[in-house]
Amino acid sequence: MYLCKPKLKSSTSLNRNMKNDNIDETIDEMGDAFVSPNTDTPMREDAFEKSDAEKIEIIQQNVKEIMNTLGLDLTDDSLKGTPKRVAKMFVNEIFSGLHPDEKPKASTFQNKYKYGEMLVEKNITLYSTCEHHLLPIVGRAHVGYISNGTVVGLSKMNRIVDYYAKRPQVQERLTMQIVKELQEVLGTEDVACVIDAKHLCVNSRGIRDIESSTVTSEYGGRFKDPEARRDFLDYINLDTEF
Ligand SMILES: [Zn+2]
Repeated sequence: MYLCKPKLKSSTSLNRNMKNDNIDETIDEMGDAFVSPNTDTPMREDAFEKSDAEKIEIIQQNVKEIMNTLGLDLTDDSLKGTPKRVAKMFVNEIFSGLHPDEKPKASTFQNKYKYGEMLVEKNITLYSTCEHHLLPIVGRAHVGYISNGTVVGLSKMNRIVDYYAKRPQVQERLTMQIVKELQEVLGTEDVACVIDAKHLCVNSRGIRDIESSTVTSEYGGRFKDPEARRDFLDYINLDTEF
């Protein structure tokens, strides 16, 4: 497994190496190769001062503006509901994971069976949105951990993937956020995540490569050990037929 999109310079080294007025241009050119070094989604302090209803109202106006600018006739029956539909979809669905209230509650259990081996939840369906183009990312996440006595319900792993996916994302950050969250919930460093996903900004526009997908991985604790990592990847590659 490897990182298809290598992490380029962090924004700090970028700042150091370039004059300020060139930075915007450079970031634009780097496009979806630009990755902030921070694991947290970059958000403003006032992100939740407005209610969801207020956000929907404002976004609706903005989408209307975009459609008007493109010359679309918003009195047409097929188009007139689009601004509101898009605004609701942004706030309530595809970007709902920005809101801390949406974070899945961390219910854990004691590991009664003393199962000390690796547990892998694979092929978790992943729908996210590329933060550079606001186009879909569609793929699968594979998550594994080695319990130190605490276990988590299996569907919780799906929910954690889904929560962080429902944000404007870069795949590298998404992979790290999932691992970090599970490490906190489980109280262990021994967590791993691999994501294999198609980015519609690559598949449907720009280079238009339908076949390529991006693979990212993050290994914590014992997963840094090559043998544990190999076991994890073997589990993922098991041909499961039901
Ligand atoms: Zn993109």
